[in-house]
Formats: sequence, structure tokens, C-alpha cells
Amino acid sequence: MIKSPQLKKGSKGKDVQNLNTFLRDFFRGIVDVKNYEKASKDIFDSETEDELKLFQKYYKLKESGILDKKTFLTINNIKCISLPIHGYNSGKAANPEFDIVTNPDHQQYQAEHYFFGKTDLTYTFKNFTNLYEEHTTPQMALDKSSSKEKQRDIMDYISKEISTKTKFTLKEDTSGKPDIFIEFTTAYPEGDPRLGTTIPPLRDTTTGCRKTDYSPLLINDRKSWTDNASILRYGYKNLTATLLHEIGHSFSLAHTPRETSVMYFNYNEKRQKLAQDDIDGYNYVYNIIKTRLQC
Ligand SMILES: [Zn+2]
Repeated sequence: MIKSPQLKKGSKGKDVQNLNTFLRDFFRGIVDVKNYEKASKDIFDSETEDELKLFQKYYKLKESGILDKKTFLTINNIKCISLPIHGYNSGKAANPEFDIVTNPDHQQYQAEHYFFGKTDLTYTFKNFTNLYEEHTTPQMALDKSSSKEKQRDIMDYISKEISTKTKFTLKEDTSGKPDIFIEFTTAYPEGDPRLGTTIPPLRDTTTGCRKTDYSPLLINDRKSWTDNASILRYGYKNLTATLLHEIGHSFSLAHTPRETSVMYFNYNEKRQKLAQDDIDGYNYVYNIIKTRLQC
């Protein structure tokens, strides 16, 4: 990621290249994490400046167009790349295949929505991580099948959280046609701080209709995962908090600037329950699906 603050128009080099890559992904959305390392330009030009200003605007920072310390810290604290931010993106080449909705509580924008065409959703694990652990001592390590069961328990908890607190229902797929795929992948570059990337249903840019009816969650399998709070300090990341957040994106929720919400942009292992803000966001999307015709 970006190592040094104080980059501005005219700066050059690897850090500028990383900044340009970050901005590209932030505004255009990551479809394929395997292409993440595709090189960006290494010059801080006026395009970089404009994009940085938009980023600063979104995060309520001083819109200087300079990578100052506060902006630097904000960028380095974003643990998952969400999708293009409409309303802050006019005139920019946003990925037209996405639309997401920001929590209406903040009135940031209303998108031309692209969502699932239904409100009873299912998920499946495409694979499980081998790096899920509850204990730090090898003697107490989980065997493979109980690790798998623990991961399924986490999704069971998340499903209940969504099904009881919002108007949606979510459950494990039994039909062979899941809506949400949870995939652990090592396609993230070594040292990448991102925990996950989520792709909601896509839109066909020619017809304007929904093109895909599923949502992959790509979870960084170079991290070690747990749901045991006492071992988080050993560098483990909380799988419950991460999946609950990413699942929110697959329901087309964007990040919220409200710190107590699951959909806050910064990772916090303590956010394992939907806040009222999140619930409002889910129900807002639900009402759109129920009241508007979608093709
Ligand atoms: Zn996110």
C-alpha cells in the first residue's frame, strides 16, 4: 500500500503509482482482484488530484488534492474496497455495471439501483479457509471439519442477524443456485491490507437490465481468521465482523460515515451486530426491490 504521506501534483514514483491504483479501484470498483497489480501511472497529475479531492470530499477531509497525513491515514485504514460512489463520481468513468445505495439516513445520494430481484436470499461457501482458528496453541488447533463447522456457524449467526432484524431473509443454499458465494482467495497481493471485496449483482450496460444474479464475496485468504476476541491481538482478523460487513455490500449497501455501523468503512472487530443505521439501509433497499419494477 501507500507508504508515505505528502504526495502532491508533480510527485512521482512507486507510492504515487500505489495511490493511483487505490483511487482507480476506489472509484471504478474491483471486479477481478487478480488484476489488482495491473500497473497504474506513477505520476501525480491533475487526474490524480481531482480523484483525491473527490475521495477527500466523501470522507469529509480537507479537499486539498494533496495526500496529507489525515488523508493518508484514512486510505490506509480502509479495509475493504467498496464500489464506485455515485454522486461523488459525476463525470468520472465509474464502472457502469454497478450501482450501490448509500444508507439513506445520510442522504448522500440515491442511485439508479441494481440489486437482487428478490428479498429471500441464499448463500453458499465456495470454499473454507484453512486459516481459521480459535486457539493459539497448536495442541488445541481445530481439526479441519470442526473449523469448517465453525465457519458455517458464523454465517448461520449472520443469517439470523439479517433475517430477524431486517425485512430480508438469508439462509444457506440447498437448491444448488445460491445468490451469494463466499470464496476465500489468495489472489490478493502479499501484504495487502484489504480483508475482502464484494461484487453485487451487475447490470448489463446495453440493456440497462440486471446481467448477473449472484454476488461473490472474495475474502483475503492470506489473513488468519478467528471469532475468538482474545486472540485478535495476535494478528487474527475477526471473521464474523468481516463477513457481516461484506454481506452488506452484496445487498448493495455502501459504506456509511457513521462509526457505530457495520457498514462503516473502517474495520472494527467489535461490529458484529447490525446497528439501527444498517437496519435502515437494508430496509431501504428492500423497499426499492418491492416497489420498483426491475428487469
Ligand atoms: Zn466495505
